[in-house]
Amino acid sequence: MRYDLLVIGGGSGGVRAARIAANHGARVALVEQYRMGGTCVIRGCVPKKLMVYASRFAQEFEEAAGFGWTLGERRFDWAQLKARRDAEVARIEAIYRSNLLKAGVTLFDARAVLQDAHTVRLSDGSTLAADTILVATGGWPDAGPPVPGQELAIDSNGFFELAQQPRRVVVQGAGYIALELACVLRLLGSEVTVVLRAAQILRGFDEELRTHLAQELASVGIRFLAGHSITRIEHAGTASDADAFGALAVHMEHAGGTEVLEADCVLRALGRKPNTQGLGLEALGVVLDAAGAVVVDAHSRSSVPSVYAVGDVTNRVNLTPMAIREGHAFADSVFGKTPRVVDHTLVPSAVFTTPELGTVGLTEEQALQQYPQLDVYRTVFRPMKATLSGHTSKVFFKLLVDRVSDRVLGFHAVGPDTGEMAQLVGVTLQLGATKAAFDATLAVHPTAAEELVTLRTPAVRHNL
Ligand code: NDP
Repeated sequence: MRYDLLVIGGGSGGVRAARIAANHGARVALVEQYRMGGTCVIRGCVPKKLMVYASRFAQEFEEAAGFGWTLGERRFDWAQLKARRDAEVARIEAIYRSNLLKAGVTLFDARAVLQDAHTVRLSDGSTLAADTILVATGGWPDAGPPVPGQELAIDSNGFFELAQQPRRVVVQGAGYIALELACVLRLLGSEVTVVLRAAQILRGFDEELRTHLAQELASVGIRFLAGHSITRIEHAGTASDADAFGALAVHMEHAGGTEVLEADCVLRALGRKPNTQGLGLEALGVVLDAAGAVVVDAHSRSSVPSVYAVGDVTNRVNLTPMAIREGHAFADSVFGKTPRVVDHTLVPSAVFTTPELGTVGLTEEQALQQYPQLDVYRTVFRPMKATLSGHTSKVFFKLLVDRVSDRVLGFHAVGPDTGEMAQLVGVTLQLGATKAAFDATLAVHPTAAEELVTLRTPAVRHNL
């Protein structure tokens, strides 16, 4: 049978596109080589957030004492958490599968390679033909430039397979993944050293936000080695007392010389690269960029008219909700007769460190490029809970306002639930909210978020 749509990849973008296209009446097949759900469900957002929840209990238990609680013996069982987490991932995976089947999508558990502009060959040797092919194969951890002994290290995929908790961990990289996993391990009791080549964490985020978060993470005991690169990893020769792990020697270089650290686990999170290798795309004439991403137009169409691509494989905004939106817009446009393009600006996002980071809109550095008369409202405060818990963490909020139009251009925050806040502040920015609208909004008391509607005086008034 010839399909109307053939989707390669059962992650967030591919699954959404397949279901919506099928709802529009298209005959749809989806091919997935591994497990349904993609990075987000299987080895990303979902299992990560469950680990974040687990890790935060450690802090809550500490804080409880300030509120009159006496807690008994505490013991954390990594293997038990892993088993429960894996079961939850399997449950969601099954839902993805059944939702696709309910929508009438035909599933193939196989690897697909493009044979021509309308045909794919599956790993069992069979072929499938379709009018339109959607590549939604996502991304994969980038190993970075080769380093001797890199096979002794793990990446984020390997993190989710760890059967035991490593006691001493070196994390290389200081992006979303490195920091989230570093926090999980640290709060659960591991010694964590983050090795970053740059001077500061989270390149591309608002500068003050980066500084504040780095201080917060240092205060929970994460050690940062800025300006350091790993040059070699080898077995240390001495047995680690964490018996599942052989001790590793991590050799590093920095401007001042070299250094060696001993660790039970080296976790490298150096970014992710689009999953386009061996798919037959180049042979077909599908243009890829220097990073290997499928180059697409605003409608997610590649240089070959019958081939589209959505999600991380296009390396636009590599976030689950964006892949879902791109997949949905593609299906509506091609099969639902309601063409629409996805707006890739104004992207709310969170980094689930502890404390977490929430952000939406322009950074101060970006805003100044377009809005020379920029007011920066900022507050750094001790949250109410800390008065009794004794926790030293401080909340950071920043609002950027264009003085000419009074429009709020950016929100950047570090503190509990700031990911949730970024979602709602994102709605206000989408509506073009002004600072006056924030001021006119009554506070919800006592909350941390009320500080956002009581910011009176700019901390900085740029006048470039
Ligand atoms: P990021 O791009 O966020 O970070 C990569 C890190 O690796 C940076 O610190 C970078 O340093 C460093 N790096 C890159 N190459 C090298 C190298 N050769 N040597 C040393 N360091 C290097 O990638 P992640 O892997 O953390 O995450 C990938 C994407 O996944 C994110 O961009 C995000 O879109 C998504 N994601 C989103 C999450 C969320 O929404 N909460 C959670 C997890 C992932 P430098 O700063 O110097 O460039």
